[in-house]
Amino acid sequence: MIQITNPATFWLTGLLFFIAIFGRYVLFSLLFWWLFNVSMKDQFAHRAVQTRPRKPGQDWREIGWSVLTSLIFTAIALAVIVAYQKGYTQIYTAARTYPLWWYPISILSVLFIHETYYYWLHRWMHKPGVYRWVHKTHHDSITTSPWTAFSFHPLESTLQAIVIPALTFVLPLHISAVGIILMIMTFSSAVNHLNTEIYPRDFDHHWLGRWLIGATHHGLHHAQFRFNYGLYFTFWDKWMKTESPDFHRLFKEKTKSALGVEDKKG
Ligand SMILES: [Zn+2]
Ligand SMILES: [Zn+2]
Repeated sequence: MIQITNPATFWLTGLLFFIAIFGRYVLFSLLFWWLFNVSMKDQFAHRAVQTRPRKPGQDWREIGWSVLTSLIFTAIALAVIVAYQKGYTQIYTAARTYPLWWYPISILSVLFIHETYYYWLHRWMHKPGVYRWVHKTHHDSITTSPWTAFSFHPLESTLQAIVIPALTFVLPLHISAVGIILMIMTFSSAVNHLNTEIYPRDFDHHWLGRWLIGATHHGLHHAQFRFNYGLYFTFWDKWMKTESPDFHRLFKEKTKSALGVEDKKG
């Protein structure tokens, strides 16, 4: 674990964290963009969720907001490191500090709590008085792309960023579990904003797939505003009956033909 002992190491740590956080976003976004818009473009062309073109300058606008988001995540990460050094957090580094079964359970618990927090925060952010100030920036992207994944107003970034650090004060988390959770978060956000459905046919009825949010599910949130508020999982939307009535029909439509079949017709 990094030791912050003076202002120089504080700023250096901050810089390294910013590079890691922003770099992780750029890396995932570039990888997904390249995979589905360049490398396998033809196979996935018919799986575009939204077909209206992205607005001029949308990529750079989203990247600009994502720089601000990364700065906020960095500031909060630094605060957690300082708290960790002072012994305030429950983060542990020796693998045997807790039983092995706790490791996967701790990750699942964080994902469940994060999901619950985000679902209700998201519902609140869609209230008319709040939406304009906090959440509109993210919804300026109607046709999303992996670049949309971190495109939030700083108020929203802060509200989103506080929950996992807060959990490090109450839940014992191995340092690598924190890393895995952050990776899942970035991966899920890139998949959900991809605007290309990458899940297989009938995955929306699969025992596991039905609980996972993907590009069609979240794409409908950006198109319709009133449905699909979840982050990683669909259960709150199913329980609260806020899942889009168009979801299964659209998912079926996007996944009906085998990959690349449409391109071979002509
Ligand atoms: Zn929203
Ligand atoms: Zn979104």
